[in-house]
Amino acid sequence: MLILGLDFGGTKLAAGLYDTSAGVLLARTQCPTPLAGGAIASRAAMLLLARDLLAAHTGTLAAVGVSFGGPVAPDGRVVRLSMHVPGWEQAALADWLEQELAVDARIANDGDAAAMAEHRLGAGQGVQTLLYVTASTGIGGGVIIANTLHRGQRGWAGEVGHMVLDPNGPPCPCGRNGCLEALASGLSIARDARIALDSDANASILRTLPRAELSARHVAEAAAQGDTIAHMVWQRAMAWIGIGLGSAANLLNPGRIVVGGGLTRAGDLFFEPVRRGASQRAMDPELSIVPAQLGNDVGILGGVSLWL
Ligand SMILES: [Zn+2]
Repeated sequence: MLILGLDFGGTKLAAGLYDTSAGVLLARTQCPTPLAGGAIASRAAMLLLARDLLAAHTGTLAAVGVSFGGPVAPDGRVVRLSMHVPGWEQAALADWLEQELAVDARIANDGDAAAMAEHRLGAGQGVQTLLYVTASTGIGGGVIIANTLHRGQRGWAGEVGHMVLDPNGPPCPCGRNGCLEALASGLSIARDARIALDSDANASILRTLPRAELSARHVAEAAAQGDTIAHMVWQRAMAWIGIGLGSAANLLNPGRIVVGGGLTRAGDLFFEPVRRGASQRAMDPELSIVPAQLGNDVGILGGVSLWL
């Protein structure tokens, strides 16, 4: 049996075909998200990728699942909006896919889909309650309770990046202040590094880079080399993530917290301070925080996992 997984993000649109009996992703394909053409161009591109994959493989398509970069209604059928592409407001994406592909369709926002993927196929296997967190350009997440995706009453559950940790903190893309994302996302780390370089006269490797190109990856690399300013900025962000995950653990008591996304590529430089900070706040002495396993396929497999 084949399941089609679609991953709709701000930069790329990807599709993969998963064989449930072999438990493998048979093939994947992708294209840049057509930002200019709105939702219509996005849907056309989705269908093109899907038809290409299906034409190259024999077997019966059983269902399609979508990881969508934006909020989704709790029924898993209607997109509320896209964070990147206009024209998706209240789009009945599942109905449309069912008409075009003649199979059942389900949708989840990308954090929820990734939580499902890691729970069914990755680092979250074997626990009943799971918190998944993406620590990347932004911070997102998803919650599994009793082996089931917990979307919340109106679909807003799992927004771990918008837990407000410091109401007087910096502005967040969501319009509030001091959300975890505003304090510790990749963009926030780059912003804080620029501020620190402007206000701190100490020497720093980061001064050799053009300010506009400065990214969280540069900060992590410089921190690893013992750069004082980079270390201070990085550790402060990691401390906030630790506080956020420890607090979230007190609400959910997850069997495991799985963390993926670009910031986790820093390895121990990420996980050691985050684990330390979280365990200081968590009531559960056995709180476990582990790296995600599915890498770049997490979106495609997230769509697939809505059917596993
Ligand atoms: Zn926010």
